[in-house]
Amino acid sequence: VTLKRYVTGFPAEDDMEVVAATARLAVPPGSAAAVVKNLYLSCDPYMRGRMSRHDEASYVPDFVPGEVLTTFGVSKVVESGHPGYKPGDLVWGMTGCEEYTLVTNPETLFRISHPEFPLSYYTGVLGMPGLTAYVGFFDVAKPKKGEYVFVSAASGAVGQLVGQLAKITGCYVVGSAGSDEKVNLLKTKFGFDNAFNYKKEHDLNAALKRCFPEGIDIYFENVGGAMLDAVLLNMRLRGRVSMCGLISQYNLEEPEGVRNLFCVVAKRIRMEGFIVMDYFGTYGKFEEEMAGYLKEGKITYVEDVVEGIENTPAALIGLFHGRNVGKQLVAVARE
Ligand code: NDP
Repeated sequence: VTLKRYVTGFPAEDDMEVVAATARLAVPPGSAAAVVKNLYLSCDPYMRGRMSRHDEASYVPDFVPGEVLTTFGVSKVVESGHPGYKPGDLVWGMTGCEEYTLVTNPETLFRISHPEFPLSYYTGVLGMPGLTAYVGFFDVAKPKKGEYVFVSAASGAVGQLVGQLAKITGCYVVGSAGSDEKVNLLKTKFGFDNAFNYKKEHDLNAALKRCFPEGIDIYFENVGGAMLDAVLLNMRLRGRVSMCGLISQYNLEEPEGVRNLFCVVAKRIRMEGFIVMDYFGTYGKFEEEMAGYLKEGKITYVEDVVEGIENTPAALIGLFHGRNVGKQLVAVARE
């Protein structure tokens, strides 16, 4: 799957191209590279940023028109020049949106220590989005038992896990999502105390007041825009906003302004952004803890699996229209 052209505004399927090409990938003699077979590919909102050209470097490079997109994926090593990997090893990490990839720096890959779970979980609950939920909630928001927590895009890959981690911590949790089906999932499957469909609310401030008569201690921010403005009005003194993402802004040519920023001053709010990659060094500890929660049934997980690499562009674009129910990923091969 390649990028056809740089994108402005909402991405379309034909901004990408599914190219049939045959190449014999092999580890160059003497190199520490590895050839992997990609089993599952992740579709993530941050990939939208990479589809535009930026003058200043960001935390991830822009995609290049004509070149294969890269993404987090679950892969099987088929050939290795790296002493740490052998054929058959299961890994997750940055790979190409293609069937096989020559990974030049296999040390960036993570080993899969719990193959007893569905391997696709390593694109989500046991992979990058899981770690995002974990560090964004515990390290950034620093929750305490009994606090009031609000999560936006709450049924998605990150949001569903933040809500459940908040329940494990003993917090009161409310989520917002963009359909009644998703709201139902939040309440019945993920154990949120309350939830609302933001697309059906005329007044987000009133919706938040209804759900949090005593205010919000922690906001896990996934969407930005009007929701952030309404949340700021409802934050409690010394509340924390964990700035994870702003998906409502990713396709706008002019980002919306935040009108209620003075609430941050008046209420002594701490707003802190984070990038999950800074926490990759803590992955092993996270993997063990999350695997434990899954085994004990304390965390449940919903994913939206699209079959076939040729459906990657549609799956990726669907994120920006809320078509995914749970973590969006593409199944390329089963083994
Ligand atoms: P999701 O699985 O939540 O999928 C995206 C969801 O966002 C959609 O399903 C949709 O749900 C919602 N959405 C789309 N457009 C809008 C809009 N205009 N307004 C409100 N909601 C919208 O994605 P992830 O869980 O993977 O990512 C969630 C957030 O976390 C994103 O902002 C992402 O960029 C960020 N992130 C940040 C990381 C970091 O290191 N800081 C790492 C990983 C993710 P709905 O139907 O509810 O509208």
